[in-house]
Amino acid sequence: NESMGHSVGDAVLRVAAARLRECADGKCFMARVGGDVFAALVPDANDSTQALAFARVIQRVLSRPFVTAGQDIYLACSTGIALGDGTHTGETLIRDADTALHMAKRKGPGQRAVFSSAMHDSAKNFMRTAAALRRALERDELVVHYQPMVELRTGTIRGAEALVRWNHPTRGLIAPQEFIPIAEDTGIIVPLGRFVLRRACEQFHALKARTTNGKPFTMSVNLAGAQLGRPNFVNEVEQILAETGVPAGSLKLEITETAAMQNPEAAIEMLERLRKLGVTIAIDDFGTGYSSLSQLHRFPIDTLKIDRSFVSRMASGNDNIEIVRTVVTLGHVLGLNIIAEGVEAAEQISMLDDLQCEYGQGYFFSQPVPFEKFGR
Ligand code: C2E
Ligand code: CA
Ligand code: CA
Ligand code: CA
Repeated sequence: NESMGHSVGDAVLRVAAARLRECADGKCFMARVGGDVFAALVPDANDSTQALAFARVIQRVLSRPFVTAGQDIYLACSTGIALGDGTHTGETLIRDADTALHMAKRKGPGQRAVFSSAMHDSAKNFMRTAAALRRALERDELVVHYQPMVELRTGTIRGAEALVRWNHPTRGLIAPQEFIPIAEDTGIIVPLGRFVLRRACEQFHALKARTTNGKPFTMSVNLAGAQLGRPNFVNEVEQILAETGVPAGSLKLEITETAAMQNPEAAIEMLERLRKLGVTIAIDDFGTGYSSLSQLHRFPIDTLKIDRSFVSRMASGNDNIEIVRTVVTLGHVLGLNIIAEGVEAAEQISMLDDLQCEYGQGYFFSQPVPFEKFGR
């Protein structure tokens, strides 16, 4: 792991290699492919059940905790398995195992996957989309749409959320759900996120001017987990703010609780540095992750965005209204602003207003619209 520093990283690799030798124990051939990737050739495994059993042994041995440089270290490993079938060369066998490894990693840490030809197709599709997405960035095919954020009590626009779309030359507008996950898996999210942040800041002044209610206007931009781990990110934000003349206090960065919890210590440190700049932080899709408000209290945040699923079920007269009430009350105790997302009906607005939820966003007010149409 890069964040551990070289000496600890080397020690970890040495321990991992020694443990793999212990597992191999004459039953298989082991080699380091590069970085932290190892290959094992297991002649005695005749089917996927036997291969998976062997993978479990390796994972069990590797996961025994140990101490180095005064730190407790726990190793997790992902495993990709390919079954040789006589048509394989060494090269294609490693390639298929590598494809399976990617799939295992996408399932989450410590997972195993066995190669299949469907996997090959989906891997090819993934690679193709990733390459097209990289080109799309270069060719300026990405556009940013804006959805107003509204003060519920007065109905005035108090901000906008920047939401990216891919204006594909033949397919038309592609929704972010189709390409953000791929961008996150490939690291493309880093330049993509930078693009959205810059564009949103460039258009901030014009969008704010169009609301003409004289009140502060906040630009919200989504932040992916991968961006939080980049040491240079705070400098980039600072530079973009300086170049576009957006006051730091007018920028809000939205991060999901799931992304924040991936590496809480790193996230807390990064968010604290952003807040020192004056940028505010919102927890996005609140209620859909596994964290609680008490865990989130450790995070330097300003705003909770209640997930659409709670807002849409609120009216049906069940427990959801109590969930929303609890979130709003606790959020206020913690000194946070509350915004409800996915507001689609007038009756939701009066309910939210009764609960003293200050802000709302949703199709009732407006869908996300292109820059030209915002506030018009
Ligand atoms: P999100 O951050 O939760 O964004 C809100 C999504 O809900 C948007 O979908 C928006 O169009 C939709 N929405 C807003 N109001 C309503 C409503 O009243 N009813 C319903 N049914 N839906 C509503 P969109 O634009 O397709 O974005 C989807 C997700 O893609 C976003 O979810 C966000 O997680 C991600 N995303 C979008 N742009 C970016 C970006 O620039 N960077 C990153 N990292 N993620 C982005
Ligand atoms: Ca968001
Ligand atoms: Ca949501
Ligand atoms: Ca959201």
